Amino acid sequence: MSTTMQAYIDEAEKVLLHTYNRYQVVFEKGDGVYLYDMDGRKYLDFVSGIAVFALGYQNREYNDALKEQIDKIIHTSNYYYNLPAIEAAKKLKEISGMDRVFFTNSGAEAIEGAIKTARKYAYLKDGTTDHEIIAMNHSFHGRTMGALSVTGNPHYREAFEPMIGNIRFADLNDYESVVSQVTDKTCAILFETVQGEGGIYPATEEFMRKVRALCDERDILLILDEIQCGMGRTGTMYAWQRFGIKPDVMTTAKALGCGVPVGAFLMTEKVGAHSLAAGDHGTTYGGNPLACAAICKVIELFEKQDILASVERMGAYLGRCLDELSAEFACIKERRGVGLLQGLVFDRPVGDIIKRAMDKGLVLINAGTDIIRFVPPLVIEGQHVDEMIAVLRMCIREAEGEQK
Ligand SMILES: *Cc1c(COP(=O)(O)O)cnc(C)c1O
Repeated sequence: MSTTMQAYIDEAEKVLLHTYNRYQVVFEKGDGVYLYDMDGRKYLDFVSGIAVFALGYQNREYNDALKEQIDKIIHTSNYYYNLPAIEAAKKLKEISGMDRVFFTNSGAEAIEGAIKTARKYAYLKDGTTDHEIIAMNHSFHGRTMGALSVTGNPHYREAFEPMIGNIRFADLNDYESVVSQVTDKTCAILFETVQGEGGIYPATEEFMRKVRALCDERDILLILDEIQCGMGRTGTMYAWQRFGIKPDVMTTAKALGCGVPVGAFLMTEKVGAHSLAAGDHGTTYGGNPLACAAICKVIELFEKQDILASVERMGAYLGRCLDELSAEFACIKERRGVGLLQGLVFDRPVGDIIKRAMDKGLVLINAGTDIIRFVPPLVIEGQHVDEMIAVLRMCIREAEGEQK
């Protein structure tokens, strides 16, 4: 590493709050599926800013659309209408089949909005305020207090107790565990269609259908968190679209703006008409013209570049290559995932392998201590998968060598 880059890192450690153990690199620019650090070193990116930069870096049309919007207007206020927000909401409605949209600035805020929606919906039915939400163990929904309260990882929550009340936890894909948590007070069941941070656990079709039926029967809102698994990553725009069911409320963020910080929660007409009303919820930035111009262009480019077909194809190829790699190494226990959201489960912590990969110019990330997560830009091609696998194979061999 150059002394200049090291100096910047040292400076960063003096001014940034120490909430991340960062890798020792300063990324300066991106191009396609590659990142470049300050020293001009090239890295193959299989993280895409954690499932954000779906279209790859330097997509000319995307960059131009943002520049054009900056020269018109960046921000107004939700007290007025703006064209990009109207257009973005129409497009989101089209790709999701949901009816009403509220724009946020992040995923966690979309979860907050979904929780408020569920509580208000239940409140309007019976006038009481002790409704319960069922969330899942191993889930991740964000770091704000409400989102943290429904995150099924005690380690993230412990120091920040008390959480918001009346949250119960069940196990994903264990329908009976959900049923056992249902009471007369249950207002919502919330889960990720594919659990991301918690270890790449896809919900099964059977579980989805049964929970949907349970929610219908008891007028409980089904809230699906599509923040990581949505926006084409599993081969459909939203992962639940594979299953012939539909949520009452859903959240989306990460790749929604492909780098511009934006999220949204969406709901059906019925929920929209019987939950949040004027004065119940708001945001200063949410849905501003710049963020919404990004959403519009992202959705347009997904269609134009036929991203879904490409994820279908490349997801299958990545899955096959990871299976072959698993067969080579006893330390790899399992592959899990859908499309371009994949995880390799190891029998040991993966930090060492990921660090070795960084040193060799490959950016990977974990999901929990023992899982390497693969969330590349959705525009990767076969040669990038091959390149990634070759480097990863080398890193695993080295790590195993040192263990002996
Ligand atoms: C990242 C993530 C969030 C939180 O989104 P932020 O934009 O970081 O607040 C919520 N849910 C899931 C499934 C996520 O992956």
